Amino acid sequence: MKLDTRAIRYLTAEDWRVLTAVEMGSKNHEVVPTPLISQISGLRGASGVNRSISNLAKVGLIAKVKNAKYDGYRLTYGGLDYLALNTFIKRKSVYSIGNQVGVGKESDIYVVADESGKQRILKIHRLGRISFRTVKANRDYLRNRNAASWMYMSRLAAMKEFAFMKVLKDNGFPVPTPIDQARHCVLMELIDSYPLRQVTEIADPPKLYDDLMGLIVRFASQGLIHGDFNEFNILVNEETQEPVVIDFPQMVSIDHPNAEEYFDRDVQCIKTFFERKFGFESEEKGPSLKDVKRRGKLDVEVEASGFSKKQAKELDKYLQQIAKLDEREGDEASGAVSTDEDDEDQEEQGSGIENDDDDGPDSNLSEDSHEMKNEADT
Ligand code: ADP
Ligand code: MG
Repeated sequence: MKLDTRAIRYLTAEDWRVLTAVEMGSKNHEVVPTPLISQISGLRGASGVNRSISNLAKVGLIAKVKNAKYDGYRLTYGGLDYLALNTFIKRKSVYSIGNQVGVGKESDIYVVADESGKQRILKIHRLGRISFRTVKANRDYLRNRNAASWMYMSRLAAMKEFAFMKVLKDNGFPVPTPIDQARHCVLMELIDSYPLRQVTEIADPPKLYDDLMGLIVRFASQGLIHGDFNEFNILVNEETQEPVVIDFPQMVSIDHPNAEEYFDRDVQCIKTFFERKFGFESEEKGPSLKDVKRRGKLDVEVEASGFSKKQAKELDKYLQQIAKLDEREGDEASGAVSTDEDDEDQEEQGSGIENDDDDGPDSNLSEDSHEMKNEADT
């Protein structure tokens, strides 16, 4: 799912209105009928709407879908990318898009710049990517989810990541400064460091080990567990050897039912990595959650940030399903990735999208329609 921004400057104001209309229509319609697109866009004259629809479909921002009852369009991830980028551009958070620096399992990472040329990191959440893999079990398991619900999940992940990053940064944790968030995208400070996994020179492994264990304990003493604290999500500056922690969509409260398990797993990740990579084994057993004294409530504070408890639950449920699949499929799941072009094709050629018995989160899509309306006007 590459980010292709070539067309972004060529879209007309009408094209943007129509694209936004398809997004808004998607909240209640898996396939948005053309008359509804026209109605939501508020544009007079069908020919203008049709021209925009054909422009947008040509560059892949919307896709035609045949449903049992009618033809219509759905937003693609490309279309969602454009809408988010356009919001950033309007807010002057982003001016230009640079190279892709990372492809996570469920995100794409780009270097972008603002008007003054200052570089930033754009993280595009792409939840649901795993469901498009050629692993049959996953397909069956997650079949009843549709594209719109994945986009909604990605948006939740971005909202959560931004909210946690902000609370952590405000409380002095070594994390990137969060800059902006729109839809499924988070904009943050570019950290001039590489993941621990790639850093060749670690001057003093025991010290870094202590620093990292200290961070796990400090997170917990403020009510939080990172949940994916490993050599990929810790950036270490080669000169200062200071760690910066990234990647927060799976963070949980120390009051979470599985808190101890998550805490122990974070500790074990670091232990295992230091043993393997540096042959370093600490004499101490490593911290345990029972011994951590609570000194703060960032887990509660973050709820006031606009990322609600209900949204947290929805995302949590999804992330747990994915974690289970990962365990079950092991390496098979992470290896077998089909191309995204294929995915689009499959949906196109299929017998349309099933509308039935989807208990996915899209039934809640209307919840944030307020924000969408605002964005549509900007
Ligand atoms: P994922 O959820 O896909 O694992 P991450 O947030 O962990 O995404 O980012 C993936 C990779 O992108 C990281 O391992 C790192 O190399 C790079 N990266 C992410 N955020 C930053 C940042 N703020 N500064 C520098 N590099 C980053
Ligand atoms: Mg990561």
